[in-house]
Amino acid sequence: MRTRFAPSPTGPLHLGHAYSALLADDMARAAGGDFLLRIEDIDQGRARRHWEQQIFDDLHWLGLDWPTPVRRQSEHLADYAAALARLGDMGLVFPCSCKRRDIEAAAGAPQEGGARFGPDGRVYPGTCRHRARADRREGDALRLNMARALERLEEMPEVIETCPAHRGRHRLDPAWMCEQVGDVVLARPGWGASYHLAVTIDDAAQGIDTVVRGEDLFEASFIHVLLQGLLGLPVPVYHHHRLIRDDSGKRLAKRDDARAIAKYRAEGATPADIRRLVGLA
Ligand code: GLU
Repeated sequence: MRTRFAPSPTGPLHLGHAYSALLADDMARAAGGDFLLRIEDIDQGRARRHWEQQIFDDLHWLGLDWPTPVRRQSEHLADYAAALARLGDMGLVFPCSCKRRDIEAAAGAPQEGGARFGPDGRVYPGTCRHRARADRREGDALRLNMARALERLEEMPEVIETCPAHRGRHRLDPAWMCEQVGDVVLARPGWGASYHLAVTIDDAAQGIDTVVRGEDLFEASFIHVLLQGLLGLPVPVYHHHRLIRDDSGKRLAKRDDARAIAKYRAEGATPADIRRLVGLA
């Protein structure tokens, strides 16, 4: 088994991250496998080296270790460009100049239902879908033509889930993919790749066979198995774990400094206390 923890260095790690990282490491250890760390810094506008350093410190303090050098997304832009070129050659990519307000306007007024939200944000109404890939202009994003991508697949991929709460094989439903996910962004202006494309390429490049992540990403995993199917990449199994919530039941966010590992450390907590707090004792 080879698992990974893949934080974005855009803020402090909190208890939810600690749970995810410790669980991935526990699973790898129990199976005699490997635990890898990956730095998801594709969003160079928000990623900061000091957050990355803090991630290393917090994880080491928790007792985790991983092979080095660590994979950083910002150092693998050529891999993402190659995947984009392959999808482009398959006729599945189009350039898109729509801003959020264009998408909202095209989707209709909020009282008419407005834009639906899916695992890639607002479902794209298709305004630029007719455009040729070669016609990409400065500032354009690249999107996947979802309907055409689904037609390319000989068999619908599945998310194979190992977490007891969702255990089973979840086959991708083409109608749901078109209506609830739509033409996902593959590259944003100024970014080499979107999160969805980068994470799919990274997991394959790192030989990850068990993706351990929060259940908030369950629907996103359908996008990833779709991309794996299109690009002929190995399909890992998924373990979407429960989320750690605050006292009012809200899931923790990066800005939730009160639950930052660094804060617990500063207040004298031990790694064993953290394990207890997240229910892994
Ligand atoms: N980088 C993502 C985050 O920090 C997690 C990605 C993943 O597990 O695939 O939320």
